[in-house]
Amino acid sequence: MNAIEGPGNVTSKGGEELSPAPGSLFADLHLHTLFSDGTFTPEELAARGSACGLAAMSLTDHDTVEGCARMAAACQTLGIEFVIGTELTAEFSDKEVHLLGYFLDPNNPKLLAEIKKFQAVRKSRIHEMVRRLNALSVPLRAESVFALANCRSPGRPHVARALVQEGLCPSMEAAFERFLKKGRPAWVPKFKISALDAIALIHQAGGLAVMAHPGINHCDEIIPSLAAQGMDGLECFHTKHTAKMSKHYLNTAAHFNLLVTGGSDCHGYSKGQPLIGGVKLPGIYWQKLKAARQSQAVSLSVKVEAAS
Ligand code: AMP
Ligand code: ZN
Ligand code: FE
Ligand code: FE
Repeated sequence: MNAIEGPGNVTSKGGEELSPAPGSLFADLHLHTLFSDGTFTPEELAARGSACGLAAMSLTDHDTVEGCARMAAACQTLGIEFVIGTELTAEFSDKEVHLLGYFLDPNNPKLLAEIKKFQAVRKSRIHEMVRRLNALSVPLRAESVFALANCRSPGRPHVARALVQEGLCPSMEAAFERFLKKGRPAWVPKFKISALDAIALIHQAGGLAVMAHPGINHCDEIIPSLAAQGMDGLECFHTKHTAKMSKHYLNTAAHFNLLVTGGSDCHGYSKGQPLIGGVKLPGIYWQKLKAARQSQAVSLSVKVEAAS
């Protein structure tokens, strides 16, 4: 079977249908809420997923798993399968890479301790961005950003929204263009965990580690190394991937024996219209991900038994 032949239809940027098969089950495994830089509550997101006919969803807020309990409850009510997730910003060989962690234990002490550090770094980064804006005579206050963000994982989109709200920029896009994009005067580099440490962190929390949107980060050359170091999967389907890119990453995943995932990366209204429903991962890949989780859990318990 060609790697692209799943049992369901996949749409991607450009709207091309890669493999139509009505009636299949679909998942969206890359979503954000207002627990990071999205605009929907978990309940609103679950309701949107239900309206799109999703059978499974994951919440992958940046540097937090805080919204997952509410999302799980909302999904259960709606008959949607839910998997706990998060998205970590990492680096490898000077390349930025986003790693999605799935099936994490939300109470894992090391995961929670690391997340706390990432969140502290995010807060000081906001202060630094505001300092730079003030030095440019843009009178934004950090308190306005934190009040608007109202979460433990504030980021650049919150700064952009605060600039718009305070009448200091006409639009979020303008805020990024003028001030916040890499290389712009208020851009502050972000601390990034090493990708290998991120994979280890996800694994020790009982999760699977998946490279998010490789097509955005242009990091194809590091996929072989990360696969060799235990990375479990590749996000082949993503809003910003064209059909050609999805095919390419499906072939890459098959070559390196990586799991296949996909999601819309919906941030609610933070990036224009909500993206949920635009990318649907065929159920077969979701089933394979769950099977991998099962066998990982079995091998972990064997290791624990052997050690005790
Ligand atoms: P941060 O993690 O704080 O660096 O912020 C990254 C977030 O900003 C991601 O969700 C990006 O998609 C979002 N972002 C980056 N560029 C833009 C842009 N031009 N307009 C809106 N959101 C953006
Ligand atoms: Zn985001
Ligand atoms: Fe990302
Ligand atoms: Fe994301």
